[in-house]
Amino acid sequence: MIDRPAIFITGAAAGIGRATAELYAAKGWFVGLYDLAGSACEGLRQKFGPEFAIAESLDVTDAAALEAALTRFWAKTGRLDVMFNNAGILHTGDFAEMSLARHHALVDVNLKGVINGAHAAFPYLKQTRRSALINMASASAINGTPAFATYGATKFAVKGLTEALSIEWAQHGIRVMDLLPLFVATPMVHNVAAPPASVGRLGINLKADDIAAMVWSASQWRLWPRTHWYPGLQTKLLAWSNKLLPAMVNRFSTKLVTGY
Ligand code: NAD
Repeated sequence: MIDRPAIFITGAAAGIGRATAELYAAKGWFVGLYDLAGSACEGLRQKFGPEFAIAESLDVTDAAALEAALTRFWAKTGRLDVMFNNAGILHTGDFAEMSLARHHALVDVNLKGVINGAHAAFPYLKQTRRSALINMASASAINGTPAFATYGATKFAVKGLTEALSIEWAQHGIRVMDLLPLFVATPMVHNVAAPPASVGRLGINLKADDIAAMVWSASQWRLWPRTHWYPGLQTKLLAWSNKLLPAMVNRFSTKLVTGY
């Protein structure tokens, strides 16, 4: 077993996953770097010091490959302090105009990928004291958002999965949490060809480093069970208003922000 805590990160090559890998490496953790872009992960491994990281090419939709990657990670580390289910994709636009293949891809990566990760990680999280499963949800799981319909649906599902597992796995000492940020400045948002109106109206006010810092806070949190983490004031305001205001008011403000 290694002498430092260990984190397994999916989607580690870019954006939030990469920023999180950088932060945990700087904190002295052993970092598992997994992404479709295996060569970018290898570059990070060299940067962190080859003995302090593993880098592999991985598609989270391939459950058997994810399981095998976790087996190799465990053989090297003997511990899994944090499983960070971060890999995700975004397709936006009017629901009916988007191809069914794109809708299905969103479900495969953003939901099935997270289920695959949670399922494969469970035996190792169970064997590691005070471990945590952290899933990337999104503010799209706060209320249904036009132009983000299926993306949001996958994130609502991740939020529900997280809530259920946070109770189911408490008996094993595994904390289960998710993060629900509004727009973050990463390749995911910058690469959207025709950004929906809500991106311009709300702005992109979070950085990948902000999210990495919140992943760190969540993984270190030991007080009471705190399942959902809302990065930034804007996201918190959205979450609170959704809870406190009548549904009609929230529907009206969503229409206003999205331009539908
Ligand atoms: P990103 O596109 O910058 O990075 C995502 C990484 O995941 C990429 O390196 C990509 O290669 C990898 N990836 C994609 N599909 C994969 C697959 N099948 N298997 C393995 N790796 C795969 O995106 P990001 O903004 O860093 O997003 C990370 C997570 O945060 C996602 O789950 C996303 O939905 C969520 N999120 C992002 C934002 C935002 O505004 N950027 C907001 C809320 C939630």
